[in-house]
Amino acid sequence: MAAVLVIEDDPRIRASVAERLAERGHHVETAHRAMDGIRLAVSGQFEIVVLDLGLPDLDGSEALQMIRAVSDVPVLIATARDDEAGIIQLLDAGADDYVTKPFSADHLEARIRAVLRRRSGAEDENTVISVGDLSLDVGRREARLGDELLDLTAKEFDLLAFLAERADHYVNKRELLAGVWHQPYGGADKTIDVHLSWLRRKLGETAAEPRYIHTKRGVGVRLSAPMP
Ligand code: CA
Repeated sequence: MAAVLVIEDDPRIRASVAERLAERGHHVETAHRAMDGIRLAVSGQFEIVVLDLGLPDLDGSEALQMIRAVSDVPVLIATARDDEAGIIQLLDAGADDYVTKPFSADHLEARIRAVLRRRSGAEDENTVISVGDLSLDVGRREARLGDELLDLTAKEFDLLAFLAERADHYVNKRELLAGVWHQPYGGADKTIDVHLSWLRRKLGETAAEPRYIHTKRGVGVRLSAPMP
């Protein structure tokens, strides 16, 4: 549960996001103009800001810069733009993460939790992410399948955690390179494929018969609980 500021000009999205987050126990305030939003964002009252990129009075990226000039409050960008280069620029400019519209409340909340966890040093000992029988203890950096502790390398754990935090959503290679390998400008796709195949082996599955790790050509990879 967190104090969340939602800066969004679309009244329907604003109301529904606020309502859904409040239902989940968060304290939510909203602003519909960038300037009001920035003033609230830097006030120190909020643990995280969800910032719409398309605002009437100021472009969201400018709003981000103005917030960042005076505050390091976590900022989660909400964007309808499917523009990788623009998104990477925003991440470089200090956004903590982004969600692409339309997004579900569950997805938004998962991203909020992930950002707060990362910001707190990720070392919240009680943080366990579960996907089916797979559970990841983020603080201890341990992954289990059922009762069995998986023998993962540091990178394999990072990759699995990145996918688990985004369970049921496809993540593209660019995002994996930026988020897991810290190479926002691209790199060897092969690296990802190799790590995925190692992970698959350790999870006891193959690309031909996936259980947890699903890849879709040209889209990306997603982690999901196996069908019962
Ligand atoms: Ca908008």
